[in-house]
Amino acid sequence: MDNFFQHKARKRFGQNFLVDDNIIERIVRAIGPSETDRLIEIGPGQGAITALLLQRCPSLTAVELDRDLIPMLQFKFRDYPEFEIIEQDALKLDFGALAEEKPLRIVGNLPYNISTPLLFHLLTFRGKIEDMHFMLQKEVVDRLGATPGTKAYGRLSVMVQYHCRVQGLFPVPPQAFRPAPKVESAIVRLVPHPNPPYPATDEALLERIVNVAFQQRRKTLRNALKPLYPELDASKLPVDAGRRPETLSVKEFVDLANYCATLKT
Ligand code: SAM
Repeated sequence: MDNFFQHKARKRFGQNFLVDDNIIERIVRAIGPSETDRLIEIGPGQGAITALLLQRCPSLTAVELDRDLIPMLQFKFRDYPEFEIIEQDALKLDFGALAEEKPLRIVGNLPYNISTPLLFHLLTFRGKIEDMHFMLQKEVVDRLGATPGTKAYGRLSVMVQYHCRVQGLFPVPPQAFRPAPKVESAIVRLVPHPNPPYPATDEALLERIVNVAFQQRRKTLRNALKPLYPELDASKLPVDAGRRPETLSVKEFVDLANYCATLKT
């Protein structure tokens, strides 16, 4: 019957389907789903991870953009009456509305072409998310967990680490997928902090400062901040203005943003 639903992987939807059962099991073990979870899978594809998730959590909700995959998923999982598929772009989905009673546990082998905007979109719902487990390009997982002063450290590292605990779990080789992607992949766990360890008084300002800082990686902090604060007295900054922005820790970015929040622009 599966042949009836022959599906050709679509590049524009970032479709690389997992075919390695050991890897799929390892991912599901890392997630550790339980029956009472409010589990959401982004991009179920042909249901490779979905099948194992459903065995442990039959009320799973999946979000899939490719409408051609929906009949196959509905057929394949017809014995799970609580399984729900939302045919939508996860980038536009109001995840908060799915967390009626419980915070969400979100999982997905994400389409790599949208992973960064999707992570930023999901961060806006962080108060309603218990945890997230994603397959991403390994390079993105490295960026998520990167430490100051390294090449991988950037806007994504600072903003995700500000909001979440980041735990890289294990790498996944290209052969685990069909078609095989050109890059290495890895699994990451993100757990939103109930409260950020170093709270910013104005999170939007923190984000703006981090953005300008990393647009100007080679400049000193003093010069990088000029577009935002042309009149800045650099001697008053809580961190040395001669440093490169990429050497600042998350806490130092927060200190900087909290100082800037006291300035007039
Ligand atoms: N989970 C399956 C697996 O592991 O074999 C498929 C993973 S594949 C890398 C990514 C999946 O996300 C595809 O099914 C694709 O159609 C879906 N997708 C792509 N863009 C999406 C979007 N914006 N919103 C929701 N799903 C999307």
